[in-house]
Order: sequence, then C-alpha cells, then structure tokens
Amino acid sequence: MVIGNEIIHSRAEFKRLMLTGYLSLICMVVAVVYPILDITNGVYYALPGYVVLFILPATSIFLIRRKRYMAAKVLLMIAGNLVVFFAAINDPFETGVFLFFIPTGIGLFSILEFKERKVGVALTAFSLFLFLLAYYGDLHSPYVQPLSQFYIQVSLIFNYCVSLTISFLMINFLMSLNNRSENELMEKEELANQKNKELQKVNDELDRFVYSVSHDLRSPLSSILGLTNLAKKATDPKDLEQLLTMIQGRVEAQDHFIREIIDYSRNARTDTQMEDVPLKGLVNEIIIALKFSSSGQIEFRNLIDEKTHLHSDKTRLSIILNNLVSNSIKYHNYTLDHLFVEVGYDEEQNRIYVKDNGTGIRSEHQGKIFNMFYRGSDRSTGSGLGLFITREAVEKLGGKIEVQSTYGEGSTFSVFLPRHNH
Ligand code: ADP
Repeated sequence: MVIGNEIIHSRAEFKRLMLTGYLSLICMVVAVVYPILDITNGVYYALPGYVVLFILPATSIFLIRRKRYMAAKVLLMIAGNLVVFFAAINDPFETGVFLFFIPTGIGLFSILEFKERKVGVALTAFSLFLFLLAYYGDLHSPYVQPLSQFYIQVSLIFNYCVSLTISFLMINFLMSLNNRSENELMEKEELANQKNKELQKVNDELDRFVYSVSHDLRSPLSSILGLTNLAKKATDPKDLEQLLTMIQGRVEAQDHFIREIIDYSRNARTDTQMEDVPLKGLVNEIIIALKFSSSGQIEFRNLIDEKTHLHSDKTRLSIILNNLVSNSIKYHNYTLDHLFVEVGYDEEQNRIYVKDNGTGIRSEHQGKIFNMFYRGSDRSTGSGLGLFITREAVEKLGGKIEVQSTYGEGSTFSVFLPRHNH
C-alpha cells in the first residue's frame, strides 16, 4: 500500500519509506478520530485544521508511490509540526504539548538518508520557529477553555510519555539500522578476508606451478635431445632400438604430465556434474586400462558390490581412482611375491579405498604427498601432481582423502565422500 510495486534496492531506504508511510497513516487516523471527539463535544473551530492534517499525509503516501520520496518525507514532517503547533496554541503551556516539538523537530533525521541531512537541519529550524511562535508569538486561540488542574496534570504526564515513546522509537529505529549495517559490514569484511586467503593460496600455487611446469616441461625435452644425438651415432640396430624405446618412454611421460595439467585445470574450472555411477563398473574400466603397466605380477581385486551406485561426478571419480590405482601399481615392490592392489567400498562410512602391499610411504613424507609437485621417493618418475589433483577433485566433491601407510608394508588411500553421494 505504501510502496506500491516499486522495488527498493536499499534495505535501509525501504525501512525509512515504510516508516514514513506508517507515520502518515497514523496522522490520517488522528485526523479522523479527533474531529469525531470534537464534534461530539460541540467544538468545531479546529475542523479545517484536521482536513489539512488528513490531506498532507495522504499526499505524502501518494508521493511515495510516485517515487517522490524526499517530497513525501518533508511533507509528512511539515504536517507533524503543524499539528503540534496548532495543539500548542490551543492548549495551555502547562499541558506540555511543546514536548512534541522534540520528536517532530528531530524525527526527520530518522527517515532521511545521511546525504540529505541538510534538509533535516532546515526542518528542525522550521520546528524551532513554530515552537517560538506558539509560545512567544501571542497567538493563543480565542477558543481556549479554562481547564481543570487535574486535566492539565494528566495531559502533561500523557504528553511527556507519548513524546518520550516516539523519541525512543525513532532512536531505536536508527540504532537497529545502524546495527544492521554494522553486521553487514562485518560479514563483508569476513568474506573479503576469506577471498583474500583463497587468492593468496591460488597465487602461491600459481607461482609454484609456473616454476615447476616450466622445469618439468623442459627436462624431458633435453633428455630426448640427448637420446636423439646418441641415436644418430648408433650403428648397432639393438642400441638404436633401445634408444628409441627410451625416447618413447620420455614422450609418454611428457604426455602423462600434460594430461595431468589438463585434469588439474578441468577440475578447477568446471562445476560438478552429478549422475548415477555404478562404482564396480567404473573401477573395472580403470583396472583394465592400467593393468598392462604392471607386467602381470599384480593381483587386482575389485571388492565393490555390483549394487553399489554413487550419485557423484563420474569424471572426478575417474580422475581420483585412476591416480590412486596407478600409484599403487607404480609404487609396488616388484621383488616380492603376492603383490596385490585392492579397491573396495565401505558403505557405512561412504568410503572408497585403494589398498596395496607395495613400498609404503615413509612417515615423514605422509603429510606432504598431497602437496603440489611433491615427490615422496626416488622411484617417482612422475611430476608429483597426481595426489595433489586427486585431493583437489575429492574436495570439489565435498569429501576428504586420507592415507595410512607403513614403510615396507603397503598403503591404503581412503576417499570419504559426502553422505548425499551415496
Ligand atoms: P608422483 O607419483 O608423480 O610422484 P603423486 O602426487 O602421485 O606424484 O605422489 C606423490 C608421492 O607419494 C609419490 O612420489 C610417492 O612417493 C608417494 N606415493 C603415492 N602413492 C603411493 C603408494 N601407493 N605407495 C607408495 N608411495 C606412494
């Protein structure tokens, strides 16, 4: 009713306009109720004043709906001051009507924006002028009737209480606006701090990334260059074949590294796409694709139940499992017998695990293996990116990854997925 269909984007301004509207409505109600009381008591002289008192706030609401907010607020305050002025010249000083000049004098500040405060000062001056005019201008109405001492005392207490309440409500309104802006400011500050931290993390990662990528991209190239130089000079076809196999190995490692970088950037940039994933099938596909690199010595166990379906992001699950299974293959102790890689799912904890009885990880490395470019052993021929990407992908799914490992005995990597993924 007050604002109409208009959308006010500032919450504070919306509240101020609503307050203006409510106060206007109160004025209009007063302008209807008081004349009824007057007429029943045979007092008619104030009726034109009540008409004005009705029209001004009604116009104020009309102006708000027309988006003339400032005009609406000023009009309301003029109406309020005029009411108090007319009451002041009709009632004796002792009834304390003048107390209402305080809320009407400062009230505008609660409905004005800070940048409009000059208008508030002007209206306070107007209010002061009306106060002085009412009490020192010798304008007392000829209709003033002698009032009993009791009536005067009750009026004084009543007027004091009402003006105190109005002043309190206005100050309370300002305090609540202030409190709200303070809270919003604090929330924004917290958000900015958090963003700053994220930015710092990204920046640090970028620094290390650029340094290591440039290094890791160059080093296979220089060894390929060295190997081709040797190949040019080789006369024995066996030597030549060996050198070509070595070159192939380097190229494959380089290809693997570039794929890892693509995985990393894809994980960072794309949103999760949840779908139904039959877990056993996915693990089987991964094992089949990686099996050839294990020279047939490893027993692969897929202990996942056929019925286990996850509601998750298949691409990210693939990245995670691919990295964990390929590490289990890579870091096996091929001098021993009964090698195995086991993948299972524990429904109670919504946990996928990849277990091996390979080399294991020394305890001093265990806290760092998920860091970017961290290689935990001399056997690593990789980039040290695999587990970092794995952890990023797990976190993107809302889960966490943990490792339990004993050096010389083997490792178990556990991926805990959020409940809703099951
Ligand atoms: P990369 O394999 O390229 O070195 P990763 O990030 O995949 O990098 O792994 C980091 C380190 O963690 C590896 O260098 C290795 O020392 C250790 N690691 C990872 N998985 C295993 C595992 N299953 N068994 C033993 N060590 C592992």
